[in-house]
Parts: sequence; C-alpha cells; structure tokens
Amino acid sequence: MMRESAIEITGLRKTYAGHKGTAPKEALKGVDLSIPAGSIFGLLGPNGAGKSTLINILAGLVVKSAGTVKIWGFDQDVNPRQSRASIGVMPQELNLDPFFTPREALEVQAGLYGVPKADRKSDEILEMIGLSDKANAYARSLSGGMRRRLLLGKALVHHPQVLVLDEPTAGVDIELRQMLWNNVRKLNDLGMTIILTTHYLEEAEEMCDEIAIINHGEKIAQEKTSDLIGQMDQKTLVIQPETPAAQIALPDGVTMDTRRDGALAFSYRTSQVSPEQVLASLRDANVAIRDVRTEDPDLEDIFLALTKSGD
Ligand code: ADP
Ligand code: MG
Repeated sequence: MMRESAIEITGLRKTYAGHKGTAPKEALKGVDLSIPAGSIFGLLGPNGAGKSTLINILAGLVVKSAGTVKIWGFDQDVNPRQSRASIGVMPQELNLDPFFTPREALEVQAGLYGVPKADRKSDEILEMIGLSDKANAYARSLSGGMRRRLLLGKALVHHPQVLVLDEPTAGVDIELRQMLWNNVRKLNDLGMTIILTTHYLEEAEEMCDEIAIINHGEKIAQEKTSDLIGQMDQKTLVIQPETPAAQIALPDGVTMDTRRDGALAFSYRTSQVSPEQVLASLRDANVAIRDVRTEDPDLEDIFLALTKSGD
C-alpha cells in the first residue's frame, strides 16, 4: 500500500515540565511536517533543536502537548496500535538490556510487537546487521558499534513501513557508517520510508531526497535537498598570509575574519563576488599569500542565512 505521505504532523507542540525550580521547556513550538512516502528524509538541526523530541513522539516514547500525528495514515490518538505498528525507531541512546543476547533481544522485541513466531525474521535481520556470529553472545560483550547495529535490527522486527534513525552516525567509525548507509539504501529500495536526524549537512546531502531544518523547536525550512543546497552560494576563501596583513580594501559584499592561526577568511556570495575580486584586493594591499583554500557552507551557515532571511 503506497501513500503520498508517510508522516503527517500538524501543530505539534511539546513542553517538558520543569523540575525542582527549573522552568518548563518548550521543545516544539507548533511544527507542521509532511514526509513523502518512499523518501529518505533528513531532519536537521543543531543540538537542542527538538529533533529527538519529535522522533520520540513519533515512537510513542514522549507524549505530545498538542497537535496531531499521523503515521502511515493512522492518527496516533485514534488508531494508536496501527500507527505504532507502522513505524520502527532506532533511538539515539544505546538503551539495550545487557542480559539479552542479540537473538533474544530481537525475539523479545518481536514479541512486544505481537509478531507471530512464524513471521519473525531474526536470522535474516542478524545477517543484515552483520551480527550472525554474535547471535548468542552476551550483550555486554558487544562493542558500541555492534550495539548500534542491534538497535537498528530491533527497529525492524515488525516490518514497519517507516524507519526512523535518530543520529545514527554520531560518533561511529567510517566502517559502521558505511554499513548503516548501505542498509538504509537497501531498505529504501525495498520501499521503506526512511527518516533520519543528523547535524552533519554532508551526510544529509549525500543520503536524503528532502530535508527539513528545525531550530529552537520550529521548522525553518523544508526543501528538496538539491534546492536547499543550491540556494547556498556562500563561499569562504581562506588565505594564510606570509606576514600579518596591513589594511585591505574589501570589495562590496565581502566580509573578513581573522582566524586564531592568523589566516584571513573572506566570505562572500558567488552570485555577487568572484574569487578573483578577493584575490585582486589582496594584491592591491601587497599581501603575500603562503597558502589558499576555500570552504563550502556548512549547516551553521545555512541556519544563519535562513534565520536572517526571516522565513
Ligand atoms: P535535539 O535532539 O535536536 O538535540 P531534543 O529534542 O533532545 O533536541 O531537545 C530539545 C530541547 O528540549 C532541549 O532544550 C532539551 O534540553 C529539552 N529536553 C529534551 N528532553 C527533555 C526532558 N526529558 N525534560 C526536559 N527537557 C528536555
Ligand atoms: Mg537528539
């Protein structure tokens, strides 16, 4: 069954109650979000933006304060069982029971979701996450990477239509990252909708068809990835001068920062200024250049640009 939207969120709010004198925290301030079925969708935002809160509401782990959430067409409040069955979540925290082996962990999870024994695919899942040879090992003997893979496996036991991964690659090595992405692509090819959160723009750029950016509990952008990246024509030219530079007359539209190591960072929009103009201003100021490189915009720049333009 194919749907236009895998997830439909309207007016989603979450306020965490304050504890012992701390003020209540408004983590989500009325988010509308529609996630196309069949996509790999990126939810981006800095730490504290509200990503995990949103994910955990989808997962049924956090109770929303207001708004509606539909998962695969099922309203969480109206059809809680069906909406829960439609989604699998790989959480950010490594919350595994140390007393279960990987196989047991998958079986128990399948039991919780009411998957009949005959429909369970524990061996297949263990194979996919590369834990077949650890199937009966004590969980406490598993490395951090293996635990993370097991969490992915647990999210898949009930064959959900939507898979959510909360910061799956934060702090993991390249090999595991590669394996996760291969798995994600494979699952997506099989028709599964994938939602992942990350604060690495590069990763989102490489993996996601569409991206939403949230900041301070509000959605500030949602675009096809290529459109979002295309908007960002900010460039930074970083020059290491031979000697500390004297006065430089900057072309219009260029700002300069002095880095701690003495490098000069010139930022400009490629639609307004050419690198040649920047270099010419350096020649005019008789700056001898020891080294030069460029930097592309990162998520931080995109935030700045988006929040400045007032959307
Ligand atoms: P992200 O995943 O984008 O880093 P979170 O959703 O974890 O953001 O957090 C959003 C905000 O809500 C943060 O300010 C965080 O400190 C706060 N927060 C998260 N969980 C709780 C909680 N259980 N109780 C109180 N505040 C919380
Ligand atoms: Mg988080």
